Amino acid sequence: MKNPFTALKKDKLVLIDLFKEELRDIYGAEQQLAEALPRMKEAATSQDLALAFEDHLQVTQDQIKRLEKVFELLNEKPDSKKCKGVAGLIAEAEEVIKETTEGTATRDVGLIISAQKVEHYEIAAYGSLRQLAMSISSEISALLEETLQEEKETDMLLSNLADMMINADAQKEDQD
Ligand code: FE
Ligand code: FE
Repeated sequence: MKNPFTALKKDKLVLIDLFKEELRDIYGAEQQLAEALPRMKEAATSQDLALAFEDHLQVTQDQIKRLEKVFELLNEKPDSKKCKGVAGLIAEAEEVIKETTEGTATRDVGLIISAQKVEHYEIAAYGSLRQLAMSISSEISALLEETLQEEKETDMLLSNLADMMINADAQKEDQD
């Protein structure tokens, strides 16, 4: 079974259908995120985190366009499906906002944890899609790879922000 897409005609259809289903899922996920990010920005305490969410909204909008390009290359109309995974993660972020006090570092660290869970979902989704796409089209896999790298960079940036905040908070406690 060298190439799973051409081994059997039936298999080829099944895997391409699966690819398109997963594509619709992540297309839905990015749209749900584009809706949630302004609320997360609004809830953030620090300017740095608010800016990170604002930047990621722009990146997310570009990623939505990139996915539309992938649909186009497949001769498909862009079609989204509600992503239940990301919907659950966004619901968790709303819970963090409810359960933490406005204007605190704790709120920001909670928001970062929520955002990183989303980035990890996206990294898993784009990693798998890119892998599947390698047997379909190098142009498509290159587009998915580009987004995968952006999600990884965002994850790193959020880790660094959390480190800074936790350290700053610990120092404040030492002085108190
Ligand atoms: Fe994304
Ligand atoms: Fe992302």
